[in-house]
This record gives sequence, C-alpha cells and structure tokens, in this order.
Amino acid sequence: MTNTALEKRSKISTQIDLDKDGVQHGHLIIPHSRNDSPWGSLLMPLSVFKNGEGPTVLLTGGNHGDEYEGPIALIKLIQSLEIDKVKGRVIILPALNYPAVKAGTRLSPLDGGNMNRSFPGDADGTITQMIADFVQRFILTRVDAVVDIHAGGKIMSFLPTAVIHNLPDPDHMERTLAAARAFGAPNCLVLEELDAAGMLDTAVEEMGKIFISTELGGGGSNRPETVRIAETGIHDVLVHLGILDEAPKGPGKTRFLGTPAEAFVIADKTGLFEFTAELGERVEKGHIVARIYDLDNPTAAPAEYRAPCDGIVIHRHLMGQINRGDCLAVMGQETDNFS
Ligand SMILES: [Zn+2]
Repeated sequence: MTNTALEKRSKISTQIDLDKDGVQHGHLIIPHSRNDSPWGSLLMPLSVFKNGEGPTVLLTGGNHGDEYEGPIALIKLIQSLEIDKVKGRVIILPALNYPAVKAGTRLSPLDGGNMNRSFPGDADGTITQMIADFVQRFILTRVDAVVDIHAGGKIMSFLPTAVIHNLPDPDHMERTLAAARAFGAPNCLVLEELDAAGMLDTAVEEMGKIFISTELGGGGSNRPETVRIAETGIHDVLVHLGILDEAPKGPGKTRFLGTPAEAFVIADKTGLFEFTAELGERVEKGHIVARIYDLDNPTAAPAEYRAPCDGIVIHRHLMGQINRGDCLAVMGQETDNFS
C-alpha cells in the first residue's frame, strides 16, 4: 500500500500514488513515537486530483497553524472539485504544518518548527523538517505552480492581499504576475522579505516555478470576505493555468503595492499598544500610526511611531500589548509597474 519509491528516501510514506489518474484522498504518514503512542504516526491530509496530461499545481494551507482561510478553502475544494473538469493535476495539502494546525499555533508544538523557515528540510530532522523535505523533493519537483494561503495569524492583521516577490528573471516574473492577476485579490504586494531563507516561497522560486502567496486578514480567525478571496483566487488560478475548464469567478481588479526598504516599523518599547490608523488607510510620511504606553509609568509620554513614508497601511500588530522588537506596522506604496 505504501509507495516504495518514496519510502526509500523519506521516513514519511503515503498510500497515495501522486502520478496516478483519478481522485485520491489519503495522508502523509509521519512516524511519531511518543508516550501515548509508542509506534504512532501523524496522519497529515493529502488529496490528489489527476486527469491526464497537463500542468500540476500544489495548493497549501496551514503553513502556519493559526491561519485559517487556507485550510477552510482547501477542505471546501477537496469536497467540491470535479475530476472531469480537471486537466492535469491538483495536489492539496490543507494543513502543511499539520501539528501546528491541530494546536492552533503558528509554529509546531512538537519541535517549535516554523514551516516557512524549514525548507529545503531534512529527511532525518525534526517532524517539521521531515515534512519540508518530503514536500521539497517529492512534490515541488512535480509541480508547475504553488498557491500557499497565509493570513496574519493571532498576532497580526493584514489588508487582504496576494503576495509575490520581485524575481530576477523577467520571464519568471511575468508568469508569476499573470498568475497573481488571475488570483484577483483586491491587493497584491510585491514584497521584499525581511528573511527569505528557508521559506516555501524561496524553494519554489529557486526552481523557476510560479509561486503565489497571500496575507488574508488575521486575528487567528477568518471572515466571509477573506475565505471568499482564497476560494475565488484558487479557482481562478486553476482556470488561468488551464487545469480547470470553467469560467473565472472573480472580476477581481488587483491593485499592486510595493514595499520600500523603510516600510517595516519596528517597536523599540514594550507596553500597551494603541494603533492610530486603519488598515487600508492612506497616510503621509510622519503620520502617527501607533503609540506605546508604559502601564507602570502612566504619567510618562507614550512612544510615538510615525509612517516612514507616504503610503497605505497594509499590516498592523493586532494585540493590545506589544514587545520591543515586534513589527508594529508595514506600509505599502501603489505602483503601476505591474498592472
Ligand atoms: Zn503565515
């Protein structure tokens, strides 16, 4: 029942044959010996829809475990996708960091692993590293494109946006932009990452393949609008890639935003956090976007944080308390370069 070709090279096995035509719902079977289950495994959901020749897309949610639009949209897709309308292959991992999604935490409770800093992974490493290794070597090598649905998690909130990166190869950039336009989110951020090493994004982009991510809302919950953006965007990317023979659902005209080098505002105080702008608000350089108060010195003036440039507030720290070093806001600037 297991795929022996995969078994030889990873401790993770699966009853699914990734290359077989038809609909298969199963698991990545991840050995996890523990007190309450000495010979136990984790059964991480995996679905594959394959119908003949055509492009392959990987759809992932739950890269971080407290971001819910991806798992919800992908479970709905698993239940609704009609194989007769598929040309090529759709591989779905609704909970990429499965232990984290089960726990409702950003990182894995088993090894502290941040899935999006764990690529290319390690076949002999921790569970997070083993999952990353399996995805890197056995799934990414089969795909033409990846859509990885993120949101702000419990701590952050975003203006709903697709996310891509500036890519050095013009053809690679144009293919990525075309997919991002098809995704049709209200906004698309062309992001300069603070720390790109180890990201799924980087692993896919280094293979010259299309990678679309998102940041949809936040707060460790979800809203009708953000789930709809995820569902519609995934559907329309499948149509765009020629995998799904249906009409696009979204009229979605996307506003492209860039992040200048100074766009990230970092707190240098710990305290009570007052955010003084709205997500999506257009502010001028110098506008006060946040204050931090010291509860133990109530007469002390708060620390004030100002917009480092003209632009649109696309991200905010969400909780009412903040720590020194936390990112409290990110600014985006509209650009016509990609429209
Ligand atoms: Zn995330």
